[in-house]
Amino acid sequence: RQRDFVPALVIGSGYGSAATALRLGEAGIRTQVLEMGRLWDTAGADGKIFCSMLQPDHRSTWFQDRTEAPLSSVLWADVINRDIEPYAGVLDRVRHGDMSVYVGRGVGGGSLVNGGMAVTPQRDYFEEILPSVDAGRMYGKYFPLANRMLGVNTPDPEWLETCDSYQYARVSRGHAHDAGLHTTVVPNVYDFDYMRREEAGEVPQSALASEVIYGNNHGKRSLDRSYLPEAIGTGNVTVHALHRVRTFRQEQDGTYVVTVEQIDELGNVLGTREIGCRWLFLGAGSLGTTELLVRARDTGVLPRLGAAVGEGWGTNGNVMLGRALAEPTGQIQSGMPALGINNWRDPKYPVFAEIAPVPAGLDLLMTLYLAITRNPERGRFRYLPENDSVRLDWDIDQGAPSVEAADAVFRRINRAAGTELRNDLFGDDRAFENRFTYHPLGGCVLGEATDLHGRVRGYRNLYVTDGSLIPGSTGVNPFVTITALAERNIERVLAEDF
Ligand code: FAD
Repeated sequence: RQRDFVPALVIGSGYGSAATALRLGEAGIRTQVLEMGRLWDTAGADGKIFCSMLQPDHRSTWFQDRTEAPLSSVLWADVINRDIEPYAGVLDRVRHGDMSVYVGRGVGGGSLVNGGMAVTPQRDYFEEILPSVDAGRMYGKYFPLANRMLGVNTPDPEWLETCDSYQYARVSRGHAHDAGLHTTVVPNVYDFDYMRREEAGEVPQSALASEVIYGNNHGKRSLDRSYLPEAIGTGNVTVHALHRVRTFRQEQDGTYVVTVEQIDELGNVLGTREIGCRWLFLGAGSLGTTELLVRARDTGVLPRLGAAVGEGWGTNGNVMLGRALAEPTGQIQSGMPALGINNWRDPKYPVFAEIAPVPAGLDLLMTLYLAITRNPERGRFRYLPENDSVRLDWDIDQGAPSVEAADAVFRRINRAAGTELRNDLFGDDRAFENRFTYHPLGGCVLGEATDLHGRVRGYRNLYVTDGSLIPGSTGVNPFVTITALAERNIERVLAEDF
């Protein structure tokens, strides 16, 4: 059968894929990137590319008839989510029993929807989670490179202390300090100068117009404004949106054949075709990549894939919570967090909690946190032949260590501030939400399912390049680590395998 052939194929267009595609293109290797989500470059009827959190429409969500926001209620009332038309929207909530995983869909992957927080992990913790990676090289070369390429910046300190849009963060910081906890400024890929001009009324608003999780119309350097245009600019890389990879196999001659469905924005399948390649890079994210590999192994298509494929998955210890406050936090709250509580050094309750906004457009006298904790629990992926699906096994109790750590830290803050947790925000009567994660990590762990540079064990010229390489935890928001590791791995692969 006639089929297309391209030297290198990259599945997905998130951080790992974007860095990999750029370096392949620079090396003169013709590369196709296949992304199941759409290209977000065209304005809708309202003149905007993305919708805001306050008025979510079909653009917000990947093929659902109702939005599925993480914070789902206020005073237990279902006032946040909205009915929508099913569409190839930008945010997906993938449900696996007790755990649901938020992921970005579109050219740029998670960079389109995330909070932009760009944090380099603490070196000693990085050395602990990935002891076989040369930390000297990571901190001397690849972390600085990732920070530069992603356009990481910090807010002007004077502005941060005086602007209206971070009043919420300053109030929270004060309470943390009163409890004897450390806080830190969190770098971001959102341009803080742009945000300053938003507050001054000089430019169209985005972070200050409740834009985050369903995309930002301005200000954010997502991958479609950093790595991906550079990759395309090499003349060797093409990106194909609305192309969903279903399976892949290896031919006798060692090349790979990928089966890909082309869909439209309403989900209709326009056609299915096969693309051959010599080098195949899996960058479909922790869920997407692990699913493709587990299915390939357990259906016998790639029988030499080892038992480590599908193991070592974690939530980065994510748990979300809100506190009720007696003092104002501001009506306009920047959607991009800029301060965090850093209690990671505490041997008993290590927590890194970003102080998150409540971008409701009015002051709800509350503050929200996404806490990253050191949760040792891990999930695993299983193939279900009855419906040809791959399922993540994660039990709700596995989230308990995260809740315990967050509870200890926020109990301390509440005691000092005379405040309380809110238990009206997550649909039912709970103060801590640990049934979702923003930070899926692992499934094809570096040095276990792959060699020390992401080459999948058992197969030549097959690579993992995304968050699935990281063993379940980074202690901070993960995209800088994912990018830096991808930069490190592709440098070695280009030198040795091409
Ligand atoms: P992804 O960025 O997930 O990219 C994978 C891509 O592959 C997606 O575009 C997907 O559509 C595509 N894909 C999947 N399967 C297929 C297939 N079969 N065929 C074709 N394409 C496919 N991290 C931070 O560091 N800082 C933050 O502030 C932050 N905030 C977040 C907020 C939210 C709401 C969310 C959801 C995440 C946040 N994250 C944050 C996490 C961060 O975005 C992810 O860790 C990161 O995007 C993962 O990168 P990746 O390369 O592993 O894959």
